[in-house]
Amino acid sequence: MSETIFGKIIAGEIPAELLYEDDHCIAINDIAPQAPVHVLVIPKQCIPRLVDAQADDQQLLGHLLLAAGKVAEQLGVGDAFRLIINNGAGAGQTVFHLHLHIIAGREFAEGHMAG
Ligand code: 5GP
Repeated sequence: MSETIFGKIIAGEIPAELLYEDDHCIAINDIAPQAPVHVLVIPKQCIPRLVDAQADDQQLLGHLLLAAGKVAEQLGVGDAFRLIINNGAGAGQTVFHLHLHIIAGREFAEGHMAG
């Protein structure tokens, strides 16, 4: 559980302000925000990358999406946010413990995936 920085936060070895917690995941502010709202939703179970998830993880993956929606609503950005999962170093993943980025509070270029 404590092999990545997120594992250490979940294990309580590194203090972090939890914006949300339930039995299966937590949400914390990103340490280097790319937007006014930049929150990470992190499962307590460590799946290194999305492609490492198995059929058994289906319920957890759905749970993470529902939790992300709840957290976005809680933060007042339920009407306009973007969810991002970086899978693999080539896509910019730096912490190998699956997480969803909730990005909000800035303009998003219409129809532009990366902006
Ligand atoms: P990735 O690039 O793997 O998709 O996202 C990892 C994210 O974790 C980055 O946006 C980075 O700023 C954030 N991050 C890295 N270390 C820490 C930390 O110790 N605390 C918090 N809150 N965020 C972190």
